[in-house]
Parts: sequence; C-alpha cells; structure tokens
Amino acid sequence: MSQSLTQGGHLSHGSPVNITGRWYSIFHYGVDPVTETLDYAVIEDMARIVKPQIIVCGASAYPREIDFKAFQEVADTVGARCMADIAHIAGLCATGYHNSPVGVVDIVTTTTHKTLRGPRGGAIMCGKEDAAAIDKSVFPGMQGGPLMHIIAAKAVCFKEALTPTYRDYCGQVVKNARAMAGVLAEEGLDLVSGGTDNHLILLDLTGVSTNHEHLTGLAAETALGEAGITVNKNTIPREQLSPFVTSGLRIGTPAVTSRGMKEEEMKQIGHWIARVVKDVARDRTSKKAITEVREEVIALASKYPLYPEVA
Ligand SMILES: *Cc1c(COP(=O)(O)O)cnc(C)c1O
Repeated sequence: MSQSLTQGGHLSHGSPVNITGRWYSIFHYGVDPVTETLDYAVIEDMARIVKPQIIVCGASAYPREIDFKAFQEVADTVGARCMADIAHIAGLCATGYHNSPVGVVDIVTTTTHKTLRGPRGGAIMCGKEDAAAIDKSVFPGMQGGPLMHIIAAKAVCFKEALTPTYRDYCGQVVKNARAMAGVLAEEGLDLVSGGTDNHLILLDLTGVSTNHEHLTGLAAETALGEAGITVNKNTIPREQLSPFVTSGLRIGTPAVTSRGMKEEEMKQIGHWIARVVKDVARDRTSKKAITEVREEVIALASKYPLYPEVA
C-alpha cells in the first residue's frame, strides 16, 4: 500500500508504468478531498481491508508533515512492515525540521540528492531483522560492484549534514517556503492543503483562468521557465489532466536557499510567480510579464551567484 502518484506519491511506489507496479499488487491511498492532507483513520480502514505486506509512506509532492509513527501503528495493526521513503525531506528529518522516521518505522529509504544536498544516490536504513535480506537483495540481487566515488561523496554529504551551518540551512529552507507560500496565498492563488510545513509548495491552478480552460501546469512551467524561474508541473489531488500536462505547479526552496536567499527574496519571487501566471492566464500569447520578470530575475540571481568564491 502506498500513496498514489497523482496525490503526491512517487513513481517507484507502485505506479503501473514502474517496475514496482508491474511486480507487486499495489493499493494506493490518497489525501482527504477537503483538507488535501493524509487521513490516518482512512488509511487504517484501507489497510484492514487490503491486508498489505508492506505499507510505504513518503512522497514527492506533499507539502505537509507526515506522521511516521501513525503509519507504523497502522502497519502493526494489520501485521505489515512499514517503509518510509524520505527522499525529499531527509535533510529536514536529519536536522529536526520534520519528525524523523529513523527508529520509528521498520525501514527508511532516502536519496542523498534532494534536501540532503549530496550526490545523486540513495541509502537504506533498517533494524537488524531486515538487514541481511536487504543486503542480499542489493548484492547479488540487483547490483554488481559498488560506486566508490559516490560512497565517498555520500560521506562528505553526511559530514556536512552534521554541521550547524547545514542545520541553519534546513531551517531557512522551511522559513523560505512559508514566506513564499504566504505571498502566493495573498496573491489569491490556491495552495494544495492551504500551505506548507516543509520545503515545497504545490499550487493548484484550476482557479487560474479567464476563459473556459484553466492555465495548465505545463503552460505555467513553460512561462515561468522563460522568465528564469525553474519550477515543475505536477498533478494535484483532483487531477483531471494527463501527467504530461497537469493542473499544478510544484515549487521548492532548497536551491535558492543554497544561494543565500532569505524570506524577502522569497516574497519577491512569489510575487513574480503570481504576476507571470496571471498574465499568461489572461492571454496565452502574452510575453509582457515574462519579459519584465526575466530582467528582475537576472538582477536578483546575479546578486546571489552560484559560486560566490569565483564571482
Ligand atoms: C526523488 C524520489 C526518489 C528517487 O528518484 P530519483 O529519480 O532517483 O531522484 C524516490 N522516492 C521519492 C519519494 C522521491 O521523491
């Protein structure tokens, strides 16, 4: 049992187009249609009916805190294992800005390249009872020799994650997401679940329209990309469009926070996003907001260079 892809989950949690969906019988839980957040009582009801062997929690596009303890309790109730995939929020879990599933759920997986800010790679954490089976399924089950350069890069990533600077970084990522969410809401845009507890915001564009059709995630992503703002189209809980088009936008603060930007800059970026989205919704061919915002984006980005020591 896992969170559905259209409601925040990840391809690797049993999507029919992924190997996980082809090998396993998957049942998806979603979010509550009104609050757009996870409802643990409903998930428990589903688990009692489905009787899964494993319950997977963790998401790619879920802006709210996940209660890992509640998931483990549901799993225990139905005799399932519980696995938390914290790919997105690992950095926040490690620094206390999100509750950590380590020591709480049976198995924890993560990537090292998202909020953990390390190399592209992953890690699996578990207790003694699962260790031998997991090790065996990695080697000889799926992998050959290890990538020693990536292991070295992960060691550097974990060392950095232990520093006070990194803790401050994660705190700022969360503050920045809240600041931007505040401005987007103030601009009249619809935020899935009404806000954010973590590093990302999911915008619901179904209300952004001036004619019959609302602005799609794809059109908004393209327009913002032209304006120099990188975001990605994303499905929203009540999605009606294909995953290649979508009705939502997923916006994250980790990258801009790495460049040193704080709440003031987030508010500025939030206003820019609203300006571009509204202008393009009004007239799909308009380049007015895109052109104006692009100049301002370039000016801001050059104040916060990627490599300050080189600039
Ligand atoms: C990103 C992500 C992964 C890993 O995907 P990659 O394509 O390797 O980056 C796994 N699980 C979740 C929940 C993710 O968000």
